[in-house]
Amino acid sequence: MTAEIMVADGTATARITLKVRLRAVCYQVTAVATVGQLLQQLRVSRPDLIILGSNLADGTALDLCRRLSNDRQVADIPILMLVDPDQRLAALQAGATATLDPGVDEQMLMARIRTILREIDMPPPGMQDAEPIGMAEAQAGFGHAVHPLVALVADHPARAQRWRQMLSGRMSCRFDIQTPDQALGAATSGRSADIYLIAADIRARGDGLSLLSELRTRQGSRDAGFVIAIAPERAELAAIALDLGAGDVMPLMLGTAQAAQAAAMTLQMLLSRKSRIEQRRADVQRQMQWAMTDPLTGLYNRRYALPRLTQMTREARAGSRRLAVLAIDLDHFKEVNDTYGHSAGDAVLVEIAHRLRNTIGQSGLAARMGGEEFLGVMPDCPVDQAQRLAESLRRVVQDMPVLLPGLSGGGQIRVTASVGLAMVIPSGQVGSEQAGQMAIERADRALLAAKAAGRNRVVCACADRAA
Ligand code: GH3
Ligand code: MG
Ligand code: MG
Repeated sequence: MTAEIMVADGTATARITLKVRLRAVCYQVTAVATVGQLLQQLRVSRPDLIILGSNLADGTALDLCRRLSNDRQVADIPILMLVDPDQRLAALQAGATATLDPGVDEQMLMARIRTILREIDMPPPGMQDAEPIGMAEAQAGFGHAVHPLVALVADHPARAQRWRQMLSGRMSCRFDIQTPDQALGAATSGRSADIYLIAADIRARGDGLSLLSELRTRQGSRDAGFVIAIAPERAELAAIALDLGAGDVMPLMLGTAQAAQAAAMTLQMLLSRKSRIEQRRADVQRQMQWAMTDPLTGLYNRRYALPRLTQMTREARAGSRRLAVLAIDLDHFKEVNDTYGHSAGDAVLVEIAHRLRNTIGQSGLAARMGGEEFLGVMPDCPVDQAQRLAESLRRVVQDMPVLLPGLSGGGQIRVTASVGLAMVIPSGQVGSEQAGQMAIERADRALLAAKAAGRNRVVCACADRAA
């Protein structure tokens, strides 16, 4: 899908030129001349990027930028401002995502747009609020007490010292001056920085860009933010740096307080972005955890257990090892609910699940398949051992009452379980999924036989006993 870009510029020629240039590379472009038109347009469509050029008839570009970045509805749309270098800091402070000189060449303009579009990340719910770019947000996101680490890889030790001196009062980060080898070594051994500030030319022309590419492929530093510092006479490297994956570029020399402040804001913006990505990754992991576990007992659920059984079956067959499948069902559990109430029943399920998981241990799989039915799978487990395991599972339920101190009438509930055991056929015509499924069916039939024979017992599927 083509990205949609909204251009707001009060100067007709600039607006039209930009529109033509962007359309030529197939962006969808809407161009507006006034603040009023822009706000109206934002009500009907939501662009991926807003480019603010020269002042509009009914307001300055800076005011508009500030207004947009404080508006909850649109604050997460990135804004690229075309401003002279002396206005860069003001633009960033107004909430611009990035700035470019209005006279920028085609290559750099397109590289900058590509970088912004590439880095668009949907903020997690609750983070859409316009938040000032600042220390609190970044640190809260990183979730660790220590400040984030910025690695400085400069072309000269004095330059690195200077960067540190100019940046350290402006952001709460740790700064580490590194050589390219040290940066690569640290990334390889898992001590990657959160952000790298790298001179485009360190010891040789363009070697900073090679370092950028290298660090972007290392597992440890892949997700870091990168800023490339470029000397004025090497301006042509800026577009290349962005296309190689730098989040931003900045001048090599931080001569003035204003330049240093703009650089600090750029680094801070990349830090915030990185922390949002980490936060989102943690959320996804949590959601995956929720999706595969049973909320009551914390055991794996059926959705996880069935494909996992297929996988364990495949592995067992590949290694010519036996795999035991156990169907476990609590006996007369309805009576527990009827006698003590549903929440007492829940507490019993939690305790029994815990015992089953401990008995099965780390190498096996324990899952709650529904209600008061559990599945156990044990890899590398010959029939004799499987029968002993099944017996242990039965006993671990029977031997100790579940203690519920809050319960009237003694606070103890005794339960028993029936267990059906089947072995996965080690090889044969059927595939792994079907073999696992068949083992579950045989274990279920054995379980029914255990119930029919009086409950609180283990029945092994007959065919397997002979195996
Ligand atoms: P059987 O020995 O034949 O297995 O008898 P049973 O009573 O255990 O079996 P039945 O299938 O008739 O009833 C299962 C009961 O398990 C019924 C239902 O109320 C209870 N149950 C299922 N899920 C939960 C749950 O999450 N919490 C509680 N407290 N009870 C549950
Ligand atoms: Mg039951
Ligand atoms: Mg049942």
